[in-house]
Amino acid sequence: MSLSLPADLDRLREPAEATAIIRAHTPLLPAETASLTALAGRVLREDIVSDEDQPPFAASTVDGYAVVADDPAAVRAVRGDQFAGRTESLRVERGAAVYITTGAPIPPGADAVVMVERTEQAGDTVRISRDVVPKPGENIRPVGSDLRRGDRVLSSGIVLSPAAVGLLASLGRTAVQVTRRPRVSVLATGDELVEPGETPAPGQIRDANRFALLAALAPLGVEIVYAGIAPDTDDAQRAFLTARIADSDVVITSGGVSMGRKDLIKGLLVELATVHFRQLRMRPGKPFTFATAGDTLLFGLPGNPVSGLVGFEVFVRPALLAMQGRPDAERPRVRVRLAHDVVPVDRTDYLRATLRTAADGVPEATANGTQQSSRLASLVAADALVIVPPREMPYRAGESLDALLLG
Ligand code: AMP
Ligand code: MG
Repeated sequence: MSLSLPADLDRLREPAEATAIIRAHTPLLPAETASLTALAGRVLREDIVSDEDQPPFAASTVDGYAVVADDPAAVRAVRGDQFAGRTESLRVERGAAVYITTGAPIPPGADAVVMVERTEQAGDTVRISRDVVPKPGENIRPVGSDLRRGDRVLSSGIVLSPAAVGLLASLGRTAVQVTRRPRVSVLATGDELVEPGETPAPGQIRDANRFALLAALAPLGVEIVYAGIAPDTDDAQRAFLTARIADSDVVITSGGVSMGRKDLIKGLLVELATVHFRQLRMRPGKPFTFATAGDTLLFGLPGNPVSGLVGFEVFVRPALLAMQGRPDAERPRVRVRLAHDVVPVDRTDYLRATLRTAADGVPEATANGTQQSSRLASLVAADALVIVPPREMPYRAGESLDALLLG
């Protein structure tokens, strides 16, 4: 088999090169119509133009009394109540007032509202505090003061925030165009794996990676098509890959991409897809297969839990966000100062670290204990992955490096 493989398939790729290859193969998913309750965090794919003025009527911004501003009377006759949500046929002229609640339409004739806190009602009259001099327009939200008919209120490409969803609802847009959710399948491979609720027999372990990956996927706006475990047989893994390539935008596997005789995913991806690279010049997570089959992206993550999750963070997460058109696909990169010496390795090391702001305001990074790739605890409370390039000399405490901010 290896004779027919491209010569540089197993060339070690620098992380930046791997990112570029993945990005070049990541499609922008098509738009679809989604309703108001399914919009949070999704990418808008149309411009939204207001077809009305907001507010559509002049409304009070306080609870109080609608009056004529140009009126010296301290005591005025109350003509009735104007509550929000109602239309009354009340008029206000000099010497009169109408009780009004926040959001209620200003009755004809009135041009100011005095806050209820500055008034005192007795029977059908209201006394306005001596020191209050109502000004025309006071406590009134004019027609169109929030937005105007014809205003472009949201632009294609933004991530829909809660405020944006509220705005759409206020404009009566019950459904809008957003990027379709990526359909994602997750497979943990390994004869040693049992479900977390089971007691492992000798030699077995519980499947941690499937659940870690599902948790990592949860905030990314994806739809999980399938998640399961496959044993280390070609047939089981081939059946999974074939079915999931057909119905997924992204297929993520865990395990089976390293050098062992039971690392079957690696070979199956060559058989079923186009493999772009299989090794990264990074730690953790040197084995990492990236392949495509049509528009489907396949990520073969290594089985070591930390390697898999770091690979997900650095390569899979950005791809899943980019295919939705998210402008924030990349984690923010910041310069951090090392709190202690760090010994580099022969590949780019993604050091799991906790950040704290030093007295001079600079974020300072401390490694989260031993960094072996099976030790999930190093990643549990990590704020950042400090990117440690290879070099001969150790890095000294106080030196600055780039870091990817997590969470
Ligand atoms: P592999 O990449 O399949 O060679 O697995 C590398 C290491 O990760 C082995 O120690 C596996 O037992 C472990 N491993 C593989 N899959 C999982 C998983 N789903 N959960 C926890 N550990 C795993
Ligand atoms: Mg395995």
